[in-house]
Amino acid sequence: MEKPLFPSEYMRITQGYNEGTHKNSYAIDNAGKDSGISEVYAPFTGIIKKIYKTDANEVWLESIDKVEYPDGTVDYLTMLFAHDNNVEDLFVGKVIKKGEVFYHEGTKGNASGNHCHMECGRGKFSNSGWHKNAAGYWSIDNGERPENCLWIDDTIKILNNFSYQFKKISPPPVDNSDNNKEPVPIPDDEQKEKPDEELNLKDILTFTAPKTDLYGVYLKENQKLIIKELT
Ligand SMILES: [Zn+2]
Repeated sequence: MEKPLFPSEYMRITQGYNEGTHKNSYAIDNAGKDSGISEVYAPFTGIIKKIYKTDANEVWLESIDKVEYPDGTVDYLTMLFAHDNNVEDLFVGKVIKKGEVFYHEGTKGNASGNHCHMECGRGKFSNSGWHKNAAGYWSIDNGERPENCLWIDDTIKILNNFSYQFKKISPPPVDNSDNNKEPVPIPDDEQKEKPDEELNLKDILTFTAPKTDLYGVYLKENQKLIIKELT
């Protein structure tokens, strides 16, 4: 199950929630690496439900499946993004894969300086996707604090988190199970390289590359990798 990831390589929040134009909402503005236009990645695999071009090119992205929230709950998540200057490549119904660049910072609409306005709403997109709140600003339905919806990981550089505590996705555990074992001496005759035909085929992982490309493989200490071209 996907963990929704903060959608920018650089977290530099320039306006927090419930202040100024974000009054009565959990909207945040992220200005990315610098004053230029940073890319916005899809936080989860989702489908575009609405594009509102007459204002700030607002785009609603709804998760295809339920996602895992940082508090462990499981639900759909819908996000609203605003200010990209050009959304001509997007359309309602377009599926965006997690991590794909699909949006950019910009200044479309009421924005001073390039940034991406983003809001999280728990659950699926419904009705118009937003409402005019008590302060007179349009905000996403079922709005939630971004740190209660989005995770971070080691790839995200934190320049300003506005003191919001985002939960980190822990890296996969390192397998140390072989570290404490005494090395087993190998008898002389087994140290010699065996010719191919003597290799024990049942212990061999066979992987045929479907196309010419780079592939990654995880090797343990002393494991041997033999690359062989099929003839
Ligand atoms: Zn904003």
